[in-house]
Amino acid sequence: MPIYQYKATDKGCDYCRGGFEIIQSMKDKPLTQCPRCRASVRKVPSLCSGYTPMLSDSNLRDKGFTKLKKRGDGTYEKTT
Ligand SMILES: [Zn+2]
Repeated sequence: MPIYQYKATDKGCDYCRGGFEIIQSMKDKPLTQCPRCRASVRKVPSLCSGYTPMLSDSNLRDKGFTKLKKRGDGTYEKTT
C-alpha cells in the first residue's frame, strides 16, 4: 500500500507540524485533518523537495536500470 505524507497547514502538534507519513489504501480518502490534534493537513508529494518520480526514465537510467516498453507487435523497446 502506498505511503502518503501529510503536513499541517497551520500550527499543528508535534506529530503533524513537521510532517508525518501514513499508509493508506488507494481507496481511502485523503486526510484533511491530523489524526491527533485535528489541525488541517495537506498532502505533500514526497519527503524531499527535489522529488523525482521513481519510475521516470531519467531516474531509472541514473540508477542503471533499463526500462523496456512493450510495443504493439510484441517486441520490447528500450526507452532508457
Ligand atoms: Zn497534529
